[in-house]
Parts: sequence; C-alpha cells; structure tokens
Amino acid sequence: MTIFSKIVAGEIPCYKIAEDENFFAFLDINPVNWGHTLVIPKREEDYIFDLSDDELGGMMAFTKKVASAIKKAIPCRKVGMAVLGLEVPHAHIHLIPLQNEGDMDFRHKVENPTPEKMKEIAEKIAAGF
Ligand code: 5GP
Repeated sequence: MTIFSKIVAGEIPCYKIAEDENFFAFLDINPVNWGHTLVIPKREEDYIFDLSDDELGGMMAFTKKVASAIKKAIPCRKVGMAVLGLEVPHAHIHLIPLQNEGDMDFRHKVENPTPEKMKEIAEKIAAGF
C-alpha cells in the first residue's frame, strides 16, 4: 500500500480538499506555494501514463474542478499543473497557484507551513469545490 493509499484510507492524516468515487485531492505536506495540492487516483498506479485513457480523462476532469476551487480560494493568476512522481510511486498531479513562473520551482518550499494555516487553506479550497 502506498503512502497515498494510506491517506485515502484515513490511516495517515491529510488536509483533504475533495474526493469522488475514483479520485482524491489533498494539500501537499511540503508545499512549493500556499495551496499546493495533489490529485491522485484511488487505484494504485505508479506511472501516470500507465493509467487507461478513461482513467486519465476522468482524472483530468476531476483535476480541473480542483484547480477551479484553488483559483477561487487563493489569489493567483493561474493554477499550474506538473507531474513528477519521482518520490512517491502513486500517480499524482501537482496543482500550484501561480503569480509568476518561479512559483513552479520545486526547489522552493513554503517556510513553516503551520497546521493551522494548512487547515485554513484546505477548508477554503474545499468550500469552493
Ligand atoms: P514527487 O513524487 O512528485 O516527486 O513528490 C511527491 C510529493 O508528495 C512531494 O511534493 C511531497 O511533499 C508530497 N508528499 C510526500 N509524502 C506526503 C504525505 O505523507 N502527505 C502529503 N500530504 N504529501 C506528501
């Protein structure tokens, strides 16, 4: 079971944004920017491009709704999307609120993302989903 499957199962806590039958969204624990969110399929698959066309299409439709909720909650010009997947072997899309290109730099991390602030942000995004 991947760490992300444990999050879906409620065995590991997370700042949840939204879920449906097949997909789940939650805040990245080590955010590049406030509102940095991960979208995953509930079904375990390591490499995103090993998902079926239908699953990938469904994931994109779900991700689009999450991005819209992020944009309503966090002041930004656009919400950027990235797929890395080098650390956790469970397909995931990073959604990151952008003011400029530098906001997509994964070497940059939010300093001291306190539980209070993470909870506040997750609730704000979740409310707009
Ligand atoms: P990647 O696999 O895309 O290179 O990086 C995995 C991402 O998942 C990282 O941005 C990391 O902060 C995030 N991450 C890893 N473990 C956890 C976790 O237990 N909870 C949450 N919310 N995010 C995690």
